[in-house]
Amino acid sequence: MKNQTNSGSQQDILVRATGGNGAVRAFAGITTRLVEESRRRHQTLPTATAALGRTLTAAVLIGISLKGNDTLTLRVMGDGPLGAIVAVAGSEGRVRGYVQEPGTHLPPAQGKLDVGGAVGREGFLYVTRDLGLKEPYTGSSPLVSGEIAEDLTNYFAVSEQTPSAVSLGVLVDTDNSVRAAGGFILQVLPGAEENVITRLEQNVQSLPPVSEMADRGWTVEQIMGGLMGDLEYTVHDSLTPEFACRCSLEGIKGLLTALGRAEIEDMIAKEGTAQVRCHFCNETYNLSRTDLEELLGTMP
Ligand code: ZN
Repeated sequence: MKNQTNSGSQQDILVRATGGNGAVRAFAGITTRLVEESRRRHQTLPTATAALGRTLTAAVLIGISLKGNDTLTLRVMGDGPLGAIVAVAGSEGRVRGYVQEPGTHLPPAQGKLDVGGAVGREGFLYVTRDLGLKEPYTGSSPLVSGEIAEDLTNYFAVSEQTPSAVSLGVLVDTDNSVRAAGGFILQVLPGAEENVITRLEQNVQSLPPVSEMADRGWTVEQIMGGLMGDLEYTVHDSLTPEFACRCSLEGIKGLLTALGRAEIEDMIAKEGTAQVRCHFCNETYNLSRTDLEELLGTMP
């Protein structure tokens, strides 16, 4: 199963599978490029890179089944130095997200990036599903370790009554770039037989850490095969995840308009220009005096 393919050549991919006559479902993904893109955009230091990367990976995995304009938002609100971590997944593998304090880096704990220490152990994980119904649905659970995968496992058990195994991993290279990233979520639905559950637990325990699988160049098919073992399963969807934001110059102009005439007149008088940064992707929009004056012209 282990091959020596250079992980850098592996494309990002997400897959969804079901097995055991529909009683087992699994999501697996390689997200190295996606997480590197988020690192580059937000200029995160290693601990923040891993925390945001795990959260983005979790969001795209859970979001595999989203359709149209549906969104899934993960918010990790711990009491550690990172502050809030937010990831919003849309359909087709698109995701955007940020961490409040991207410059957070803690000394490694037992040779690993101390994500739990940076997130904090007190706090909550929130999962919001906006499926185009009247009200988005938000569930939450207390953080367990701040390591995100464990917190999400607890969320599925407590808030959705779904026993799950969640693994999320980001390997940061010596030059701070992302060397490998990936994850999986394995869930047991009502009706699963006891012996199936036992076999799945054994499969999960026999696998190397997911960042190591991604680094060794395992394909998602190989990861899925390792999870399902000799259980019969079918792979349904395969998607390419990507960091994609919804911001635009038009959207930024809309935000400025909402501030009101006085605020914009003030900007023109003081700076003459405006610089607006999107939280989610860190893109900066520069508006010239002419842009601002044009904006004023469109306002009542
Ligand atoms: Zn943006």
